[in-house]
Order: sequence, then C-alpha cells, then structure tokens
Amino acid sequence: MEKIKMTTPLVEMDGDEMTRILWKMIKDNLILPFVDLKSEYYDLGLEKRNETNDQVTVDSANATKKYGVAVKCATITPNAQRMTEYNLKEMWKSPNGTIRAILDGTVFRTPIIVKGITPYIPTWTKPITIARHAYGDVYKNVEMNVEKGSKCYLYKENADGTTSKELVYDFSDSDGIIQGLHNKDNSIRSFARCCFNYAIDMRQDLWFATKDTISKKYDHHFKDIFNEVFESEYKAKFDELGIEYFYTLIDDAVARVVRSEGGYIWACKNYDGDVMSDMVATAYGSLAMMTSVLVSPEGYYEYEAAHGTVQRHYYKHLKGEETSTNSVATIFAWSGAFRKRGEMDNLPDLINYADMLEKATIDTIESGIMTGDLYLLSTLDGKKKVNSEDFLKSVAEKLTSYLNK
Ligand code: NAP
Ligand code: MG
Repeated sequence: MEKIKMTTPLVEMDGDEMTRILWKMIKDNLILPFVDLKSEYYDLGLEKRNETNDQVTVDSANATKKYGVAVKCATITPNAQRMTEYNLKEMWKSPNGTIRAILDGTVFRTPIIVKGITPYIPTWTKPITIARHAYGDVYKNVEMNVEKGSKCYLYKENADGTTSKELVYDFSDSDGIIQGLHNKDNSIRSFARCCFNYAIDMRQDLWFATKDTISKKYDHHFKDIFNEVFESEYKAKFDELGIEYFYTLIDDAVARVVRSEGGYIWACKNYDGDVMSDMVATAYGSLAMMTSVLVSPEGYYEYEAAHGTVQRHYYKHLKGEETSTNSVATIFAWSGAFRKRGEMDNLPDLINYADMLEKATIDTIESGIMTGDLYLLSTLDGKKKVNSEDFLKSVAEKLTSYLNK
C-alpha cells in the first residue's frame, strides 16, 4: 500500500509518562505504516522543558501559529513532588496554560461515544461539546475578609481622572467576605468567535447561557457581546448551514441539556465550564474517552486528550508490568489533527485516513476488544480486556482492512 502524502507539517508536541509511551506506540502501529508523516517535533517532556527553561513550550506554540495545526501528548504540570523527582530548576508552568496564553484560544472537550458504554444520562446518544471561557471571573478574583463595621465599595478611576464609586455592602452588623471579579471585552469577543467558528466547523448548534437576569451588567454583557458578534459576523453563515445560535438562562440551559440527546456545542463562562465539563465527562462514562481541542480566534488548532499522563500506569510500566492504558483519546487527537490538516491542505486521502482511524478504533471497542478502564464499564457480551499494545494492534488490523478496500 502506498503511504498517504502530506504537504504541510503538523506540529507534534510529545509529552510525559504513560502517554509518552502510548504516543510512540500509536505512531508505530497506527500512523507510520499508513502516512508519510510530516511533523515538526517538539519534545514537551518535563526533562526537555527543564533543560530549555521551558523555551521549547513557547517554540511549539509559535510553530502552531506558523503551521495552523498541532497535536499534543499529555504533559506533567510540575508540583513540589515533581521538583524533586525531576530535579527541576523551577516549578515550570502548565504547558497547556502557556500554549493557551500564546494562542489566545478556547478549549472544546468532546466525549467519544461507543456502544456498550451507556452515559449516566441514557438519552445522550450524541456528544455534548463543552467550550469553557478560559479567562477571568472568579479565576482572576480579588478577595478580602471583612470585619464588622467596615463599608465596602466598588471603586473605579476613569481615564479622564473622574472616579466612580458604588457601595457593595455596609457590614455594620457582622464580619463577612468580599470578592471582586472582572472580564475584558476583547477576551469575551475572542471566546465568542472561537465558539462560532467551531460550531461552523462541526456543523452543530451553539448554545450559550449566563445568569443575565440577576447579573444585569456583568453577565448581560457576555450575552450582548455574543449577540453582537453573531449578528454582525456569523448569522449569514449559520443560516446557510442550517445551524442555530441559541441563548438562554443558565438554569434553563442545564434543564434542557439533561433532557437533550446531545449533538451541540455548549459555550460556558469560566466557572460554569469548569464545573459542567467535569459533570458532562463523568456522565459520559470515562475521562479516557474525552478529546480536547484548543481553537484560537485566528483559526489555529491544537488537539489533545483531556486526561493527564496516567502516572500510576507509568510506574507499573517502569517496573516491567503490563498496562492496559486507554489510548483512544490520544488516537482521536491525532485523527483530529490529520483531518484538520487535510481540510486546510485539501487532501481527501488524509481526511479519509482520519475518518477510518476513528472508525477502526470505535469498531474495535464495539467488537468487544478494550482496555481495562472500559472493560469495567462496558455492558457488551463477550468483552475482552487487552493490554495497551494489543489494543493498538487490533485497531491497526481493522484500519489496514478499511484502507485497502
Ligand atoms: P490522569 O493522568 O488523567 O489519571 C488519573 C487516573 O484516571 C488514572 O490513574 C487512571 O485511573 C485514570 N485514567 C486517566 N486516563 C486514563 C487512560 N488513558 N487510560 C486508563 N486510565 C486512565 O490524572 P493525574 O494522575 O491526576 O495526573 C497525572 C499527571 O498528568 C499530572 O502530572 C498532571 O499534571 C498531568 N495532567 C496533564 C494534563 C494535560 O497535559 N492536558 C491534564 C491533566 C493532568 P486508574 O489509576 O484507576 O487506572
Ligand atoms: Mg473542573
């Protein structure tokens, strides 16, 4: 079989621990035999980040701006324990945070649905993609403890030298607490554009919800900006594709989501997205079956698995023990990146390869061959638990037959 050609490289960001092991296995079994891979390789493994003073992370993000598409392996975000384990010069920041800051992107998380693993909400037969605004609100807050007898104000120094002041609360009767939040129009507008672009990409409806009835300025401002961006930049395209932008109150959204069958993108403010993405991931069954893509407002894409480096399995692997680690989300990161590369470069064979790679992965699980985490959840008769490598070999077998047809 002739290998599938690429024209522009993908940015390949390698990572840490068990997912680094899976990364190589995926390439050896599912990619290199089929695709004449063009990638610009960046090693974001913690040792390399430490050696380069984290410059490699910055370089990989800039390369993503150059080429437009990246695929990333899970990486360690250092904590005190990792400082000793890897003898680090500094507690390097989360690579995902660094990359997101450079690309100014929004993260979209989508569950991979397979027969035999029923969501806790069984009506969810299609994926619900959550988009979380990754700037501001309670994550960049200012907080104080307040002693009884204090008066607390919101105070603003305007550019023209005037000031505005509003009483938040007069704590004459009790001690208390106070919190200041902010957000920025340019960040909200970027977020809105990422969401509308991604909805167009996926040809799915976009839902957005806030508490604008209670928060008549703050939350209402999010609603207004989304509406303005939609009307002026996206409405025509949405009409043409027959997809919808739907705004509602957050309480109403939650009720509708639970009753829905899925199949749409749900844009959330920062805190709502934090909470709802964990709720949705859990309800679909497994974090190992959740993919994630960072989309920038300029249209750069970075694909990855939503889970971490699966440290516990890695330590078993280091002791020479067999692991049964789920590679599905990492496979889908690769297929997502190949599909996007194929769309950008107009390469139908590469798009078809991405589709067949996903189909082979899902069909393998639905035929009863799966890793331990899914084995525990699956209701399929005759299911069989396999190790990390044997799972990939089964997928490769199916993929070979699909591509030879
Ligand atoms: P984790 O790697 O997601 O794993 C937590 C547990 O979830 C695992 O021990 C395993 O459970 C299960 N699990 C997750 N992915 C799995 C898979 N693919 N196959 C089978 N089981 C899977 O989270 P963590 O242990 O909290 O974090 C480990 C490291 O990952 C940390 O250093 C953290 O900084 C990093 N991290 C990176 C990213 C990223 O790069 N995007 C995201 C999150 C965390 P069992 O042990 O019960 O089998
Ligand atoms: Mg959370």
